Amino acid sequence: MSWHASVLTLFPEMFPGPLGQSLAGRALRDGRWSIDSLDIRSFATDRHRTVDDTPFGGGAGMVMRPDVLDAALAAALAAGPASDRAAPDGAAREPAAPAPRPAVYLTPRGRRLDQAMVRDFAAGPGLVLLCGRYEGIDERVIEARGLAEVSIGDYVLSGGEPAALVLLDACVRLLPGVMGAAESGIEESFSDGLLEYPHYTRPADWQGRAVPPVLLSGHHAEVARWRQAEAERITRERRPDLWAQHVANAGRDRAPSA
Ligand code: SAM
Repeated sequence: MSWHASVLTLFPEMFPGPLGQSLAGRALRDGRWSIDSLDIRSFATDRHRTVDDTPFGGGAGMVMRPDVLDAALAAALAAGPASDRAAPDGAAREPAAPAPRPAVYLTPRGRRLDQAMVRDFAAGPGLVLLCGRYEGIDERVIEARGLAEVSIGDYVLSGGEPAALVLLDACVRLLPGVMGAAESGIEESFSDGLLEYPHYTRPADWQGRAVPPVLLSGHHAEVARWRQAEAERITRERRPDLWAQHVANAGRDRAPSA
């Protein structure tokens, strides 16, 4: 059973989009994850296929209807990959009900996406992602379906589709077997609460800019110390919020090196 994403959208042709390329695309072809996009409009019941209406209370813009969204969510949640389950005698396997997947509404007012959230989503069976358009969606469907609300940052997109692509890209690269070397998933920004140290490759001297000599020394312990110090410096300078958290965490076991 592979990690499965269902995307509810008015623009199903946007998926897999860029996720059909490169690392995520290869993993998709290898069956390490799968995706289906459901056209929300196909769940509208009137002959005009209406998915939105004017807001109660007045104001500009349109709001996506709860009945149409609920029908689309029901279809997505009922589908999804069936997990195999051992039969009671253990001799054979029978198809089981689809593993329940978190249902997420992408919205600027949601909890801000971070690497810890991505790790949790990637460790589960997959996601059902609801992409809003217009002014957003009727509040009652969020309550009725217990949707998790997730934002990809403090800015407003014209639709949830780019946010869904961002969230899926971040999850898919963490799935087992997707990244080449195991450590590429461990030694990177946020994995230890720090931003990453700088990288260098050939040529060792470029436009008069030399690579830090320690990286050419072949001394692994010195290189590791330099990288740790640089990661701490960059985090301290650029993200005082992350640095304060790192210091608090490190204080429980050991003092940070700076
Ligand atoms: N009226 C909404 C507000 O002020 O919060 C913005 C609606 S926006 C034009 C349309 C849709 O884009 C939203 O329903 C949401 O699905 C998506 N969206 C916009 N910005 C987003 C963000 N930062 N993170 C996640 N989704 C976002």
